[in-house]
Amino acid sequence: MQLVCLGTTGFHPNARRHTASFLLPEVGVVLDAGTGLFRLAEHLATQQIHIFLSHAHLDHVSGLTYLVETFGVDAYDQVTVHGTADKLEAVKRHLYAPHIFPVAPGYQFCPLGETCELPKNSAGDAGTLRTFPLKHPGGSIGMRLQWPGHSLAYVTDTTAMAGADYIEQIRGVDLLVHESNFPAGQDELAELTGHSCLDKVAQVAAAAEVGRLVVTHVDPLLTKDEDFDLSDAHEVFAKTQIAQDLDVLDF
Ligand SMILES: [Zn+2]
Ligand SMILES: [Zn+2]
Repeated sequence: MQLVCLGTTGFHPNARRHTASFLLPEVGVVLDAGTGLFRLAEHLATQQIHIFLSHAHLDHVSGLTYLVETFGVDAYDQVTVHGTADKLEAVKRHLYAPHIFPVAPGYQFCPLGETCELPKNSAGDAGTLRTFPLKHPGGSIGMRLQWPGHSLAYVTDTTAMAGADYIEQIRGVDLLVHESNFPAGQDELAELTGHSCLDKVAQVAAAAEVGRLVVTHVDPLLTKDEDFDLSDAHEVFAKTQIAQDLDVLDF
């Protein structure tokens, strides 16, 4: 299966990266709806889409307002937005407040619990999604998505650390997409903002024995790849790479 990186930064876009959004075209599943969601239409391969929100900070939801262009306002049977009840309420009340966005789109909003069934893939297998809580200002949720022979975990926004209690939830996945807003060694800033440093994310990937690690939600102020030194991660977990917008990741 494939994951298309529609947006790989956080906070605000820069010249190379849009904010958090990922698409599994084969099943019409979207993870987060940041500004990268404007790219959805050209990669979409299904009639219906299911959007799963990690939380409701603007860099993860602002793209929900772009869908009107793709699906129109009456999209009840095409677009379902999943998230915890409090975050969906915040989106409906604030993002779609008439003074903020002039039309109320007719999407379904579906409160998300610990598990959720996912659409069948091209092999005809149904998938499952499992959520787990993450420590972040206002709260966030991590997700593990699984189809027979294919597994993926998406962990953003949170502060990674050795011994993090979500490690068991992501154990053994083929692909771990984990935020690393900061390079190695910026632990104070990471703790203050509720984000992660690269060295700690690599420790989590190693402890969880994942197949490979792709870091995302890269600080938008780092506009050159060489600013983000992966050697700190490679010492701990060799199969680490940085996501770039429009990368297609197999899992
Ligand atoms: Zn974020
Ligand atoms: Zn956040």
